[in-house]
Amino acid sequence: MSFANRAVIALGSNLHRPEEQIRRALQTLAGHPHIHMREISSLYTTAPVGYDDQPDFVNAVCMAETGLDGRSLLAVLNGIEADFGRERSFRNAPRTLDLDIIDFNGETSADPHLTLPHPRAHERGFVMLPLAEIAPDFVLGEHGRAAEIAARLGDAGVFRRP
Ligand code: ADP
Ligand code: MG
Repeated sequence: MSFANRAVIALGSNLHRPEEQIRRALQTLAGHPHIHMREISSLYTTAPVGYDDQPDFVNAVCMAETGLDGRSLLAVLNGIEADFGRERSFRNAPRTLDLDIIDFNGETSADPHLTLPHPRAHERGFVMLPLAEIAPDFVLGEHGRAAEIAARLGDAGVFRRP
């Protein structure tokens, strides 16, 4: 299989030693035969969004090349989430591991199963700051350059880990 598609993937965890979860998830992605990792951001500690009464998150963003199409990649990511013991309870709930496709070849999709670009990424500092770190000139759909979106959002609640 070739690696013709380019994906931006966001990772998040706030349960069960989140830093370890993110590091292991990055290793799992890197070890997948159809995923070739390119850039990987630093890890970030971030305050929860949407539902405050839960632990801080650790987040990261990576860019990868893959031979998988978008739906197949999402299935792989959902499988990794399941392997990491995630139980789906409610939106914005605490989770061991969340893997989202932020962008796939710059494609646009309104499919609720795989919406592209990710419909909330441009509002999320915990996605845009790591993305701006690894790819400041990356253009996220109609929202513009990653660095500009990140600057607009500001860095409140998002701390790059040393
Ligand atoms: P969230 O990440 O919004 O907290 P989930 O991870 O439980 O919530 O995902 C909810 C649904 O979002 C999944 O069923 C998935 O199919 C769908 N989804 C739609 N677009 C995307 C995307 N770009 N990346 C990941 N999941 C997506
Ligand atoms: Mg998700």
